[in-house]
Amino acid sequence: MKVNCLVCGHNVDLDDVYSDYEGMIRCFVCSTLLEIKTEDGQIKSVRFARAMGGARGAAENGDQEG
Ligand SMILES: [Zn+2]
Repeated sequence: MKVNCLVCGHNVDLDDVYSDYEGMIRCFVCSTLLEIKTEDGQIKSVRFARAMGGARGAAENGDQEG
């Protein structure tokens, strides 16, 4: 099974272990964390979890100012 990295576009090859999985994987090319969900060997969702630099972390919550 392959997951397309949302950042660098590389096809991350996943083991059979991930055919029924929900959690984080790391793209070994750009080291981005992707949050994936799979079921019966099918990819249900791929989401951008976190970049290595963490440059755009604050935009997610937007609850910092007070
Ligand atoms: Zn990547």
